[in-house]
Amino acid sequence: MNCIFCRIIKKEIPSKIVYEDELVLAFEDIAPQAPVHILVITKKHYSTLLEIEDKELIGHIFMVIKKIAKEKGIDERGFRVVMNCNHEAGQTVYHVHFHLLAGRQMHWPPG
Ligand code: 5GP
Ligand code: ZN
Repeated sequence: MNCIFCRIIKKEIPSKIVYEDELVLAFEDIAPQAPVHILVITKKHYSTLLEIEDKELIGHIFMVIKKIAKEKGIDERGFRVVMNCNHEAGQTVYHVHFHLLAGRQMHWPPG
């Protein structure tokens, strides 16, 4: 399988890692849409959120997001978490990932 995020996990492709444990990897997005734009991905390959049944894993992802937000000092100002699922949502990489965006005023509704 030629999955770009699996290759980032294996360190075959370089990335700016901000957090890593046995379940998840977090790294800076290559095309940031905000001053802070970090991707949190599962180490196990799931194409989309629809494939994940593991509630603990989903909970863990959000605990990691919270930890990174605190470390980056964006917790009080605010941050946005985005997960695009399938084509109409704009998913382009089919390895499940959560965008952590911050550092500017966000708008609603999202584009
Ligand atoms: P999606 O559109 O699937 O929700 O988000 C995919 C994200 O992955 C995009 O924000 C894109 O910039 C990012 N991305 C794609 N390829 C790479 C890469 O090789 N390295 C990094 N760091 N980010 C990537
Ligand atoms: Zn993958």
